[in-house]
Parts: sequence; structure tokens; C-alpha cells
Amino acid sequence: MSVSVESISSSIGDPSAAASGPRRPRPRRRWVPDAALTVVGLGLGATTGLAITAETHAALASRGGVATFVGSITGLVGMYLALVMVLIVSRIPLIERVLGLDGLLRWHRWLSPWPLSLIGLHAVFVTIGYAQATRSGIGHEVSALLSDYPGVLTATVALGLMALAGTVSIRAIRRRLRRETWWTIHLVMYVALALSFSHVIALGPTFVQHPLLQLVWTLVWIATAGLVIVFRFGIPLLRTLRHRLRVIEVRPEAHGVVSIVCEGRALDRLPARGGQFMCWRFLQSGIWWQAHPYSLSARPTATHLRLTVKNLGDHSGGLAQLEPGTRVMIEGPYGAFTTDAGRRQRAALIAGGIGVTATRALLEDLPRTARPIVILRVSREDDAALVGELAELARQRGGRLHVVCGPRERVRFDADTVERLVPGILQRDVYVCGRPSFVQHVVELVGGLGVPADAIHHEAYSL
Ligand SMILES: Cc1cc2nc3c(=O)[nH]c(=O)nc-3n(C[C@H](O)[C@H](O)[C@H](O)COP(=O)(O)OP(=O)(O)OC[C@H]3O[C@@H](n4cnc5c(N)ncnc54)[C@H](O)[C@@H]3O)c2cc1C
Repeated sequence: MSVSVESISSSIGDPSAAASGPRRPRPRRRWVPDAALTVVGLGLGATTGLAITAETHAALASRGGVATFVGSITGLVGMYLALVMVLIVSRIPLIERVLGLDGLLRWHRWLSPWPLSLIGLHAVFVTIGYAQATRSGIGHEVSALLSDYPGVLTATVALGLMALAGTVSIRAIRRRLRRETWWTIHLVMYVALALSFSHVIALGPTFVQHPLLQLVWTLVWIATAGLVIVFRFGIPLLRTLRHRLRVIEVRPEAHGVVSIVCEGRALDRLPARGGQFMCWRFLQSGIWWQAHPYSLSARPTATHLRLTVKNLGDHSGGLAQLEPGTRVMIEGPYGAFTTDAGRRQRAALIAGGIGVTATRALLEDLPRTARPIVILRVSREDDAALVGELAELARQRGGRLHVVCGPRERVRFDADTVERLVPGILQRDVYVCGRPSFVQHVVELVGGLGVPADAIHHEAYSL
């Protein structure tokens, strides 16, 4: 069976299509990040407070007491921050809808050096403290810790794994690795956290002889593991099984750009908005082991999803050869680049190259009264994909499409161009999408024209 892209496009502007459109996710709750930060801050305060109150004056005054105290507080705070780091990327929908996956990953990256450094310091200070207390050398104390203390051997393996995950995440090293290699190694962080759990409960001064605190800490860990299992693995698996997606058509759209139409069941139950993306795994030999993020290039109908992909490397290039019938696994939808971010009645949408995909789907979600001005910036005419659909969607909403075409050296995309093409830009929400350098350029440019930051919404195609 074959369904053409027109069958998806034909639902554009059809009021009945909107009525049977995708399940609307709940609106964004702007208080969520503040509430989440408050909870994290309270947890950090409680963890530090517990570590401090667990120390006695006598223990601090004893030989090695200060070093052991520093070791215990850095260890506990480091473990707490490691849990927060894992929670941040567990894809909890409430948080993801507000910050977007890229926002969450930014937080995750910003936070990650802290738990690793603190846990490293913990190992150093505890060893020094114990060595001072027993008046033995560091080497002797290391072997005593590894052989005589419960859980320390596995915690040391865990520290090694954390160091490995941290090392491969250093930008200069990560750039040299294939994304999948980096991602797989980076997953050992979960194993490391599980391995380090037992020694905290068995040896941490905060927990020894405090069954209630042991219980609370254990519950916090179980809850974190539960959230990761449910949101990162469980829900994607359930969605894949429920919607049973298969590729039904691969269709060229522009130079090196193809649309992939997938058919499935009950896709209107997928809480997807125009502008969002999913991680797609196509179960075809050679690429089944890679999941890559691609935006929806049309709002889902009850039976079809569409993505549109530019050939930029081995995965995106391989998709042109997908066989009809190929099964598809999905993760998501993710992303906060939706009309929910909007504050104004009017909108301007600026897409660079393949950024047209999310822009096209977001345009479909704009109300009929939005009078959108859509700009598509491409270097060559045959790079422009989905132009007919963009023009039609803009027209139906009382707006229009401008295609700015030509090499960068000859055709400038500057403040004059934007001011000329987008009348009343200061009264509009501005949505920008494309490669990171394009997005950064346009965000700075429209900011310079006076569009306030809360009216500029962007999605850069890089995580
Ligand atoms: C939120 C989002 C939405 C996107 N939507 C689209 C879309 O609708 N259409 C489209 O053609 N492209 C889209 N992309 C870009 C697309 O994910 C990459 O082009 C693709 O993953 C490249 O993989 P590759 O193996 O073909 O190329 P590679 O040679 O592996 O990489 C080419 C470039 O893509 C980046 N990249 C590779 N793998 C990933 C990954 N898993 N996650 C993030 N970046 C990666 C690399 O850092 C590199 O800059 C989107 C990216 C993001 C983050």
C-alpha cells in the first residue's frame, strides 16, 4: 500500500482534520522550573544538613576526623547531585514540556562536572582521613579499604566507570567519537550509580545506625530508578508497541532531502505538537542500532506521521534507502518549540534550510488569525523543501511566504532583510529553526531589532 505525502498535506486547512488531530498535551506550566529548582535546592540543603549533623565534635577532633568529614560531605552531596543529573534527563514530561529536551540537556551538561569532582574528592579525603586515623600509609589504607570495608570495591569500580563516562563527555574527546559510541559509554553512569549505592548505606556516617534515613535514601534511589525506567524506556516502548509504525513511503522533496511517511495506529493519541521532534529508530539492517532526532514535518493524523530528512551523514543519508514495511521505534515527542511558547497574536517564522521541517509543522498549529510571515533561507533553489506546503499554510492563515535564496556571500540575511520582509516584527512572536549557527545568527539579529527575548522561540538542530 502506498499513501502519498499529499494525503497528509490534504488535511491542511481541513477543519475536520483539526478536530480529529492529535491529542493536545496539557498547556505549559511556567511555574514548573521554579518549583523544580526549589525542590532540588531543598534537597541539597537537607543532604548537606544531614551530613553535617551526623558528625560529632569528638569525631571531628579525632585523628583524621576533618579529612573524613570532608570526604563524607563531598560524597553525599556528590551522590545527591548525580541523582539530580539522572533525573534531569529522565524525560519527565512535565519538566521536558517547559524546558525542552535541549534545555534539559544543557542543565545536565552544566551540572555534570560537579558530582564527578565531588565524588572524586570524597574518595581522596576518606582515604586520607582513614590513613591518618590508623596511622598507616595511603597505599596500605587503599588496600585495607578495598578488602575490609563492605561495598568499597564495587564503589571503586563505580568511580572508575564515572571517570570513564566523564572523560568521554569532554567536548574535545566527544567530538572525535561517533555519537553512538559516546552515548553507549556514557550509559555506564547508570551502572556506576547502582554499584555505589550499597557502600553509602553501609559506611556513610549519616546512615549508620539511622534506619529511618537509610529507608528515605533507599526510597529516593528507587523512585529515581523508577522514573528513569518508566519515562526513558517504558513509555517509548509502550508507544512503539501501541502505534505499530511502519514506513510506507520515502519520497524526494529537494536536493538530498526525503520525506518518510509512516503509517500506524491511533496516532491521534500521540501527544504531539507542530514543532516537536522524536528520536526515530528504523529497524532495517545497518541502521537499526541508531536512534536520531528528527522533527515531525507535519502534524500527525490518526494514521500517519511524516518526517523530512536532509542527508548530512550516514544515518540521515541511509534513510533514502528505507524499504516500505520497515518497522519504526519512536521516543518522544519532545521539545518546547511549539505555539504554546507564543505570547502574541501574530507570528513570524524563520527557517534555515532543513529547519523548514519543524517550521512547517508549527505553522499548521497556528490559528487562522495569526497572519504569519514565513521566511525560508536557503543557499540554492533546489535546497528548498516543502515550499508549496509552507506557502499554502501561510496563505490559509492570512500570511505569506518569502524564500530568500542565494549563497551567503551574495545574498545577505541581515537586519534590513528581516525588517523589510516582516512588517511589525515587534508585535510578533518570532520562531526560528535550523542549524545552530543559523539560529544563533537570527536570534541575535531579531533581538537587535528590539524583539524581546520572551517573544523569540528557537530550535537548533543539535543536542
Ligand atoms: C531537535 C532536533 C530536530 C531535528 N530535526 C531534523 C529534521 O527534521 N530533519 C533533518 O534532516 N535533521 C534534523 N535534525 C538533525 C539530525 O538529527 C542530524 O542531521 C542527524 O542526526 C545526523 O546524523 P547522521 O548520522 O546522518 O550524520 P552525522 O555525520 O553523524 O552527523 C552530522 C551532524 O548531526 C549531528 N548529530 C548526529 N547524530 C545526532 C544525534 N543523534 N542527535 C543530535 N545531533 C546529531 C552531529 O553532531 C553532526 O553535527 C534534528 C536535530 C535535532 C537535535
